[in-house]
Parts: sequence; C-alpha cells; structure tokens
Amino acid sequence: MPEGQTIKNHYELAIIGCGPAGMAAALNAKIRNRDFILLGSEFCSPKLSKAPQIENWLGFPEIGGEELRRRFLKHVESKGIQIVPFKVTNIYPGPPYTLVSKDHSIEVDAIIIATGVSVDKLFPGEAELLGSGVGYCATCDGPLYKNKNVALISYNQEGEDEANFMADFCAKVYYIPYYSDLSKLDPRIEVKKGKVKGILGTEKVKQLDLGEEQLSVDGVFIIRDTLPAEQLISGLEMEDAAIMVNHKLETSMPGLFAAGDCTGQPFQLIKAAGEGGTAALQAVKYLDSLK
Ligand SMILES: Cc1cc2nc3c(=O)[nH]c(=O)nc-3n(C[C@H](O)[C@H](O)[C@H](O)COP(=O)(O)OP(=O)(O)OC[C@H]3O[C@@H](n4cnc5c(N)ncnc54)[C@H](O)[C@@H]3O)c2cc1C
Repeated sequence: MPEGQTIKNHYELAIIGCGPAGMAAALNAKIRNRDFILLGSEFCSPKLSKAPQIENWLGFPEIGGEELRRRFLKHVESKGIQIVPFKVTNIYPGPPYTLVSKDHSIEVDAIIIATGVSVDKLFPGEAELLGSGVGYCATCDGPLYKNKNVALISYNQEGEDEANFMADFCAKVYYIPYYSDLSKLDPRIEVKKGKVKGILGTEKVKQLDLGEEQLSVDGVFIIRDTLPAEQLISGLEMEDAAIMVNHKLETSMPGLFAAGDCTGQPFQLIKAAGEGGTAALQAVKYLDSLK
C-alpha cells in the first residue's frame, strides 16, 4: 500500500481493474465528485503495455502501448486519483456488496467490474470444485488447510508469497508454476514442472492430475492475473464467456456494472475506455436513485 494511503470500510463505488476501462471510469467518477475507490494490480495494465503499435486510438496515430499506458496513468494521477493495489478475490452479493482481497474487505453500494479477460482457460474440474477445495486466494482460506496437502498453480510470482505462507502450517505444499523466473520459494515447497490436466474429486478436491502423476491434495489454489468474472461473484449472468450487459453497462445484478474486455468482443481500447466512461455515468445515476 503506498505511503499515506488508507482504505475506508465503505465507499459509494468501487472500480475493479485499472486498465483503460477502469481508468476511464475513475476519471468520470472523479469529475462527478463521487466517493469511489479504484482497485488494481501492481501494473496497470499488462495488456495495454504489450501492444507494440496502436493505430486506432483517436488523435495519437501509431502510439506505442507502453507510451499510452504512461499517459493514461499520468492523466489519472493529475486528477488526484490513486490506484489502490487490491486484487479482488471475491465479491459477496449486495447491495451493499462486499469486496474481499487477501488483506482487506470493503463494503460498496455500487461496482464497476473492469477486469479485462483472462486468456487462460479454466482447468477441467475448476468450476465444479470452486469453493469445495478450489480457491483463488490461499492466504484467505489458508487456516482451513492446517496439516493438509495443498497445491498452488500460479501464473506469476505473486503465487510464491501465497505458497510460502501456506508452507508454515500445511503438511505439504506443491507449487506448479506457469512462468519461468521462480524467485523466492520456501525450500519446504515442492515444485512440479508438469502441466495440469485436471482437478479431481466429486464433492471435494481429492487429487491434482499432472498427467504423469496424481498429487493427493485437499486444496488447489489458482493464482492468475485476472480471475474469470463468473468466479468473482456467483450468480452473475454471462453470455459467450463474457459478462452480460445492456447498453447502459448494467449487469444482471443491481448496482453492478461492467466495462471493457470483460463484457466481450471487440477487444479494443476505444470500446474499453468508452464503456468505462459510460458505466461510471450510469453508476452515478444509480447512486443518485438510492438517495
Ligand atoms: C499485444 C496486444 C496488442 C493490442 N493492440 C491493440 C490495438 O492496437 N488497438 C486496440 O484498440 N486494442 C489493442 N489491444 C487490446 C487492448 O489492449 C484491450 O482491449 C484493452 O487493454 C482492454 O482494456 P480493459 O480495461 O478492459 O482490460 P485490461 O487492459 O486487461 O485491464 C484490466 C486490469 O484489471 C486488473 N485486474 C484484473 N482482475 C483484477 C482483480 N480481480 N482485482 C483487481 N484488478 C484486477 C488487471 O491486472 C488489469 O490491470 C491489444 C492487446 C494486446 C494484448
């Protein structure tokens, strides 16, 4: 958490995701003078940064993604908006909704989900066993796995902190990295290089199938940059693997809006930013209607 930054227990609005959609939403919420929080990961946004040359961003022909990313961040900062490092692992239905990360929970009256899309497919068994041994935040659920065996499948180094935390009280911790530069794993953790074929079990997780071997585990945690939206909050209506929204960017839940890649194709900057701005204005209207 940056110095001087504190998190309140309650906000009118939370914007989850700090890509073009989330930042555009934040600008509009700020201009409308709302009590909001912009939540993101450490780097906003990896996707934008990777775009080598952008030819369709109005007014900036052939600008690089990284240059545009820096300009977005500068613009947001110039308005006094802070991006709070807070990876949402769960949203409990509302309103008011409760947002949970590994360290905090906050209550909000309205939400804009702007989390982008996960390019990684769900593992076989993941959706079926979610909440029955499958989770996305080891440090949140950790105490339930005291003296048990767990596996962490991680797409980034964030998983190493989570695995180290679990190593203190689990009987066995396996770590399956989907990236190359492992840096700070506790020596008690066993690294497995295989690829996950599936998570097995009927009512509860029993095994992790790595093809050539099956690990007996009670819990499996999956650490991705972006969580699948339907796993963030249960009951959210989806269409073609995207969050279902109408032209006001309203989802199937009251006070819950979505914007950007997470609402489906086309995956384009201008759509993401346009939807972010629109979602913020609609959220403001919604908040006004509560008064
Ligand atoms: C290589 C490449 C080239 C591209 N070129 C172009 C181009 O030329 N023109 C164009 O229009 N588009 C291009 N795009 C697409 C464009 O980058 C995306 O459409 C745009 O970034 C989508 O914005 P977004 O805000 O919806 O999502 P993202 O940019 O993906 O941002 C989502 C943010 O939310 C954060 N987040 C996710 N989950 C959580 C959570 N649970 N809690 C907190 N934060 C979370 C993520 O870390 C991320 O920072 C390109 C994309 C790539 C990968």
